[in-house]
Amino acid sequence: MADSLLRLRQVGLKVRILPLVVPAPLNEIDSGVPLSAKLQSLHMTQEVKTDVLVIGSGIGGLYFAIHMADHAKVTIITKKESSTSNTNWAQGGIAATIDKNDSPEFHISDTLDAGAGLCNKEMVSILVNEGPTHIRRLMELGVEFTTNPDHSLDLGKEGGHSRSRIVHAKDLTGREVETALLARIDAHPNITLLEHHYALELITEHHLDIKTNDITCYGAYVLDTLNHKPKKILAKVTMVASGGLGHVYLHTTNPDIATGDGVAMAYRAGAMIADMEFIQFHPTSLYHPKAKSFLISEAVRGFGGILRLKDGEAFMHKYDKRENLAPRDIVARAIDSEMKKTGEECVFLDVTHIDPDKVKEHFPHIHETCLSYGIDMTREMIPVVPAAHYSCGGIMTDSRGRSTINRLYACGETSCTGVHGANRLASNSLLEALVFAWRASLDIKERLHSIHHEFEFPDWDDSGTSSLEEWILVAHNKRETQEIMNDYVGIVRSDLRLDRAWRRIEFLKEETEAYYKKTKITPQIIELRNIIKVASLIIQSAIKRRESRGLHYTTDFPNKDDKYYLRDTVLRSF
Ligand SMILES: Cc1cc2nc3c(=O)[nH]c(=O)nc-3n(C[C@H](O)[C@H](O)[C@H](O)COP(=O)(O)OP(=O)(O)OC[C@H]3O[C@@H](n4cnc5c(N)ncnc54)[C@H](O)[C@@H]3O)c2cc1C
Repeated sequence: MADSLLRLRQVGLKVRILPLVVPAPLNEIDSGVPLSAKLQSLHMTQEVKTDVLVIGSGIGGLYFAIHMADHAKVTIITKKESSTSNTNWAQGGIAATIDKNDSPEFHISDTLDAGAGLCNKEMVSILVNEGPTHIRRLMELGVEFTTNPDHSLDLGKEGGHSRSRIVHAKDLTGREVETALLARIDAHPNITLLEHHYALELITEHHLDIKTNDITCYGAYVLDTLNHKPKKILAKVTMVASGGLGHVYLHTTNPDIATGDGVAMAYRAGAMIADMEFIQFHPTSLYHPKAKSFLISEAVRGFGGILRLKDGEAFMHKYDKRENLAPRDIVARAIDSEMKKTGEECVFLDVTHIDPDKVKEHFPHIHETCLSYGIDMTREMIPVVPAAHYSCGGIMTDSRGRSTINRLYACGETSCTGVHGANRLASNSLLEALVFAWRASLDIKERLHSIHHEFEFPDWDDSGTSSLEEWILVAHNKRETQEIMNDYVGIVRSDLRLDRAWRRIEFLKEETEAYYKKTKITPQIIELRNIIKVASLIIQSAIKRRESRGLHYTTDFPNKDDKYYLRDTVLRSF
C-alpha cells in the first residue's frame, strides 16, 4: 500500500485511497457526529455512471458521440462552452478526393510526401479512401458546404495538395461543422453534454492500488468548474477527444482550451504517446499587438497570395520550387530564416494584386478581422508570423481508435494515428478526426455489451489551501514555459537549445508539482501542470530524434537519417 501510494504521488495523482467497503447503513453511523456531515464526507465526490464518456466537444468528440448514441448512453464533458474548440476556428476546410480530376492515389501521394517518410501507409489509405463518405455524412447531418452554381461542391486548393480537393464553408468551415454537429447532439436523447466540466485524470486500477502493466481505463475524475465540485464519471469506455496543445507555446493560432490535457492525462495513466516532436507552425498568423493569434488561412496563398518582405521583395522562390504553395514546414522555416536575416519582426502576405471583390467574397471573415485591426487586405499587405498550430503526435492509436490502455480510445488532434507522419498535409486533420472517430464508434458498438461497471473508486481529494499570493507562481510558470518552448523548441532546434529547455522545464515541473500537491485544484493549476508535462514530452522526443525530418529541424543534424530514425518516437510513463 505504502509502495503504491508513493507511486501515486510520483505520477502526481491527487486521490484519497479509501478501503473498498460498502458504506455503513445510515442508522449505524456514530451518533456523535451530525448525520449531514457524515454524508458529506462519504459523498464528497459526486459519482456519475455512463456507458461512454467523451472528453471534448470538437469535431472528433461530437462526430463520435453522434454515431455512438444510438447504441449507448453517452456523456460528453467539455471544459468551457460546448463550441469552444479548435474545430470552431478551422477556416480552410476538409481534404477529400471528390473532383473527377482527382483520385485517392494523388491524395495518398501528397499526404505521404508531406509526412517525410514517417506516415503509416495503411492508415493513410484508410483516411483517404473513407474520407468522401464522411463529407456526405456531414451534409446529411446538416453541414452546408460552399457550392458552385451547378450545385457541385466548390473545391479549394492548399499548400502541398496537387489537386483541388478542399471542401469548405467559405472561410468558416469549422464553425459550420461545429454548429451542425452541436444541433444534432442537443436533439439526441441518449447524449448528455456537460459544459464547464474539466477532465482532471483518467481513472485506472492504479486508483485501486492494483499494480499492473495491462492497464484499463474506467472513466475520469472531473472538476465542475462552475460549482467547483469534483466528480468521478465512471464509464465502460472513455474517448479522449480533447484536441491540440498550441498553448504550450507563446505564439499559437489555437484558442485557449488547447493545452494538451488529453496527452498529459493519458501519459500519466500509462498510455503510449508518439511523435511529439512534430509540432506544425502555421506560417501565417496575423502579426498585430492586439490580435490574439489570428490565423490567415493557407487558402489565401492557394488563392494567389504572395509572401513578401517589408520592401515588397518576394522570397519563396529561394526556398522551394512550389514557392508560396510549398508545404507549411518549408514556408514557416523560410519566414523564420528571412526574419532572422533581416531582423524584422514579421513578413507580409500580399493579395493586393487580386480583384478586391473576389478577395472579400472568398475570405469574408479574414477580411473583416483584418479590417478590425486597421488592415485592409485588398489594399495593403498583411503582416504575418509563424505560430504553433497543430500537433502531429499524441496518444498512439490503432485503426479503430484504440489506445494502448484497455477501453481508452482517442481521436482528433490529441491522437496519433500515424496519418501525418512527420508533417501534416493541410486540411487532413478534420478528415482524420471524422474517419477515426467513426471507426472507433463501430469498434465500441461491437464490444460494449461485454463490458460492465466493475469497481468502486475512491473520491478525489480536494483538500489543500489556495493562497492567493501564490497565483503569481502559476501565471509566471505558464508564461516561462511558453517562452522556453517558443525560444528553444520552435521551428529551428539544436542540441544546446533542447538541453537548455529540458533543464529549465524540469525545474518548473518540480516547483509546480510541489505547489499542486498542497493546493486546491483549479483549472489554472491543472492546465499549468499539463502544459509543463506536454512541454517535457515534446523536448524529450526532440532530443531523441537526432536527425531533421518534416517538422523537426535541428541544426546539429540537418539531414534525414533513414537508417536509424525511420520510426516513431514513442514515450511511456512506466
Ligand atoms: C485557426 C485554426 C485553423 C484550422 N484550420 C484547419 C483546416 O482548415 N482544416 C483542417 O483540417 N484543420 C484545421 N485546423 C486544425 C483542426 O481545426 C483541429 O485539428 C481539429 O479541429 C481538432 O478537432 P478535435 O475534435 O480533435 O479538437 P478540438 O476541436 O480542439 O476540441 C477539443 C475539445 O476538448 C475540450 N477539452 C480539452 N481539454 C479538456 C479537458 N481537460 N476536459 C474537458 N474538455 C477538454 C475542449 O474544450 C474542446 O471542446 C485548424 C486549427 C486552427 C487552430
